[in-house]
Amino acid sequence: MKDETKSISVGRGDSQHYGSVNMPVYHTSTILFPRLQDLRNRASTPYRYGRSGTPTSTALEEAITALENAAGCVITPSGLSAVTIAILSVAKSGDHILVADSVYTPTRRFCDTTLRQMGVEAQYYDPLIGADIATHIRPNTSLIFTESPGSHTFEVQDIPALCAVAKQHNIKTAIDNTWGSCINFKPFAHGLDISATAATKYIVGHSDALLGVITANAETIEAVRDIHRQLGICAAPDDIYLALRGLRTLPTRLEKHETTALAIAQWLQGLSFVRRVLFPALPDAQGHDLWKRDFEGAAGLFSIELDPCTEAQLAAMLDDMAHFSMGYSWGGYESLIVPCAINRSINPDRFDTGGQYLRLNIGLENKDDLIADLQDGFARAGY
Ligand SMILES: *Cc1c(COP(=O)(O)O)cnc(C)c1O
Repeated sequence: MKDETKSISVGRGDSQHYGSVNMPVYHTSTILFPRLQDLRNRASTPYRYGRSGTPTSTALEEAITALENAAGCVITPSGLSAVTIAILSVAKSGDHILVADSVYTPTRRFCDTTLRQMGVEAQYYDPLIGADIATHIRPNTSLIFTESPGSHTFEVQDIPALCAVAKQHNIKTAIDNTWGSCINFKPFAHGLDISATAATKYIVGHSDALLGVITANAETIEAVRDIHRQLGICAAPDDIYLALRGLRTLPTRLEKHETTALAIAQWLQGLSFVRRVLFPALPDAQGHDLWKRDFEGAAGLFSIELDPCTEAQLAAMLDDMAHFSMGYSWGGYESLIVPCAINRSINPDRFDTGGQYLRLNIGLENKDDLIADLQDGFARAGY
């Protein structure tokens, strides 16, 4: 079954819900057991307590498990909690973990504060390192954490090469797969053990809920479930429902995001004051070959580097955009634009070029309207 079909047919359960097309939202803390025997042996219901699951959460878990070809899934209340629980399922006091230098900034902050306080040492590595990751491995290395493409700069990592080295050393591997969004990158086919995704972005897709999902292979899923259960990190049923609803149109929306983003990125490449377009779907972009080899498609999120400009020029552009709004997050139906600062500890000169970086989330609007909006904005900025 292809993803468009899977995303429509998995996690519905209509035969158990009076023919209702959609999975109902189960609001419950308490599950009742009619008899002592049912309480003892779970004969009357597979559920135990609201925190550990309801038919609504099971439906989303099954759908995400099917889309990512995983062994199982847990749901968390945000993308960041999916990332932190994924890391905590492996990292123990005394461990050393390797983290891509291009990770989402709050992931980095977690590694540098909470993990450090727990006695876990996070070492950052060049996301372009590939098989040379072997040079950083120590006897106590337990995890290689990846994010591909990386936040803001969109470096594509050689995931199969990293996973091959990890397997030789019996080290777990994890990815923040938010850009790949369960559809465009299949983590377990490329050798990863754990995948964390901010469902907040494309899966929910309408900028109206925060949610995270973690999937894992058969050898790793129980460790993920265990820490998830212990920490009591569960998501609200209405938000899970919004993710199930978003999922039905996910492959279809992603196709449109990709087509429009590619057209806009190509238009941007032709402008004299655009120094770089950081988008691996572009044929001449850094990482294009790996992207082509490993990904099924692209998200509508990329960055550009412009010739330097003043804060006043930038404000003249961004304050009066017609269709692009300013806001963090991405993956919704609406286009967004934000200036971004790139902080790298490894090879900082790769991006420390004095240019003005902007990150664009290409929404579902018409491509020509978006190009006209950017063109007017650049003119206001004096480009
Ligand atoms: C947004 C984002 C997250 C965090 O998701 P939230 O739901 O906002 O907590 C994690 N990783 C990446 C790459 C993101 O873009």
